[in-house]
Amino acid sequence: MVRVTVPVPGRAYEVTIGRGLIAAVGDHLPELPGASTAFVVSDRAVADLHHGALASAIEDRGLASVLLLVPPGEEAKSLQAYESLLRQLAGREAHRDDAILALGGGAVGDLAGFVASTYMRGLPFVQIPTTLTAQVDAAVGGKTAVNLPEGKNLVGTFTQPIAVLADVDALATLDERDYRSGLAEVAKYALTLDESLLGMLERDPGPVVRRDAVVMEDVIARCVAAKARIVAVDERDASTRLVLNYGHTIGHALERLDAFRGRTHGEAVASGMVFAASLAESRGLAPGLTARTERLLTSLGLEPSGSLPLAADVMRCLGLDKKYRGGVRFVLLEDVGRPVVVDDVSDREVGSVLHEMGAPA
Ligand code: NAD
Repeated sequence: MVRVTVPVPGRAYEVTIGRGLIAAVGDHLPELPGASTAFVVSDRAVADLHHGALASAIEDRGLASVLLLVPPGEEAKSLQAYESLLRQLAGREAHRDDAILALGGGAVGDLAGFVASTYMRGLPFVQIPTTLTAQVDAAVGGKTAVNLPEGKNLVGTFTQPIAVLADVDALATLDERDYRSGLAEVAKYALTLDESLLGMLERDPGPVVRRDAVVMEDVIARCVAAKARIVAVDERDASTRLVLNYGHTIGHALERLDAFRGRTHGEAVASGMVFAASLAESRGLAPGLTARTERLLTSLGLEPSGSLPLAADVMRCLGLDKKYRGGVRFVLLEDVGRPVVVDDVSDREVGSVLHEMGAPA
């Protein structure tokens, strides 16, 4: 078991990464003074797998456990699901010392966090992430959100949890594509912030691909430590935290365009990281980074060089990106482990790199 502190000023908390944590949650939950009930937010699939063990552990801690179900995946992040949770809490007379526990992937965590940050102006909130994406990324750092029909994550707060419990054993039941999607985020941390993790993945990706629990405990802890360092200095995305968007500028555009083809977030970010590497190289930075990125992603089971949509469509989407501020903002690497944020990339440069990657003109 590994513990990583997220040292956000005034609201530091611990992320515990280890095996069997869900069944032993009573030993790892922080003090909850005045709480009588833990409200567990989850979807049906995850609840069927893990809620039984979690509920017994909560009851052993002397708290009542109430399960609140939400729809699976992105459907959870709607205003309707948000309202429904608020009304269920009110109907059960939840009070402000009670706790909300998010048991599931990033979507459940984003919704439950938003509910916890707004119901009665805020309840203690614990993240129990069960996907790789949520364990290395979504559950840490305090961003909560729901979507509007106009766009993703348009409503939300920065609200840190009081604890994060990442049970590595939960990864065993994850669908292969969801797992690989999480590996794209792992690759992002390795390329941008942890060269020794990159070396480890390059030497032998096998245990990571096979979900070896001992190795994954270490990998997740390194990713969380990297994110914790960033969030501690820039909780609200004003500067340094933007580096966590490596690969995401083009990734988000591809996700939007590919909605009907079902490219996962991780697959889109993988292509975005190849794009960023190629753009960096075209500016004379990071020689060899594109080939190295492609090798890494392929070894993790991702296909970063899959077919791309029309370059003109990608560029239209970039213009719509909410990070668009008089120019499109990219995170590039001067070299592995040395991210920089640039906002002077011309349409011509974007078009030419997309073209090099095989996007039709
Ligand atoms: P997800 O939450 O959409 O879950 C994907 C599927 O995995 C769901 O159907 C769920 O039922 C299933 N699942 C979850 N755990 C499982 C397990 N252990 N075994 C079997 N099935 C399991 O996917 P995700 O990739 O975890 O999260 C994506 C969401 O996270 C997006 O909405 C994204 O915007 C958000 N996100 C937020 C942040 C943040 O900082 N808040 C960061 C990254 C991503």
